[in-house]
Amino acid sequence: MENLLEAHAVSKKFGHFTALNNVSIAVPKGSIFGLLGPNGAGKTTLIRVINQITMPDSGHVILDNEPLQPHHVRDIGYLPEERGLYKSMKVGEQALYLAQLKGLSKSEAKVRLKYWFDRLEIGDWWNKKIQELSKGMAQKIQFVVTVLHNPKLLIFDEPFSGFDPINANLIKDEILRLKNEGATVIFSTHRMESVEELCDHIALIHQSNKILDGKLIDIKKQFKTNTFEIGIRTNDDSSLQKEIADKFVVSPADFRTIGDELKLKVKLTDNLSPNDLLSYLTSKGEVSHFVELVPSANDIFIQAVKNH
Ligand code: ADP
Ligand code: MG
Repeated sequence: MENLLEAHAVSKKFGHFTALNNVSIAVPKGSIFGLLGPNGAGKTTLIRVINQITMPDSGHVILDNEPLQPHHVRDIGYLPEERGLYKSMKVGEQALYLAQLKGLSKSEAKVRLKYWFDRLEIGDWWNKKIQELSKGMAQKIQFVVTVLHNPKLLIFDEPFSGFDPINANLIKDEILRLKNEGATVIFSTHRMESVEELCDHIALIHQSNKILDGKLIDIKKQFKTNTFEIGIRTNDDSSLQKEIADKFVVSPADFRTIGDELKLKVKLTDNLSPNDLLSYLTSKGEVSHFVELVPSANDIFIQAVKNH
């Protein structure tokens, strides 16, 4: 798939401190790309390089097959991590002003803002002063202003911080919808909940280095351990448990069911398939639960950082 954005071997030092060390990413057109990593990893620095706010010491960025240039600012909608609006201005006034900075005419900006304010059910905030809004409310306004000019690349730096779960969900749905309408999205986060639902691709940055990247499903396959959660009903749990433990690698399972069956985690060795396990179990009792444990983005994040 063609890439909308490529960062090649980007490095950046602040004094003697290396904030980015030789980091490359490739963001396919039409995808949602998650830039993941603990606090201080270098995510915002990379985002600032892509937005031409920070100059890299070495490396370069390609946007839509062109080396990054000042005019590309118009092609990118950027929600910065440090969010600032002019506190004494009114919401509508400010949104119109920011929209015009992005190159929209006043009349076009009004039409689009009305659409978005209706969508997010914030129409009655138009005449409020920014200082009357909560942090989450102000963030909603900034989200609207970021996406308003339909840029081909959207970059959200920690878009969910500051939102309650309901509004975080609403923003998540809007990001998915923007992708379905053709936008390419990069977002950074140090929290993994949003990653599963949103990301096609991820890059994990840790202490200024990229330590993992690729398609999320491929990474999940790479990190999976062939472990299954099983539940089985028999007349004699303890002898079956012993028998299973002799044949397979087992550990206690902690999932909940409404029954009182024997519950175990079973790890398959390379010579056994899931069907081998399942047919063995069905010969021993009534199987009530059989689920492959796929590592979550959170498991992968913790594992990759620990291994590094
Ligand atoms: P992240 O967004 O992953 O939390 P950042 O990219 O903001 O991390 O920061 C990475 C590291 O670079 C941090 O240790 C931070 O203190 C440092 N850093 C970022 N910007 C500057 C700057 N302008 N001057 C000095 N150090 C900076
Ligand atoms: Mg950051």
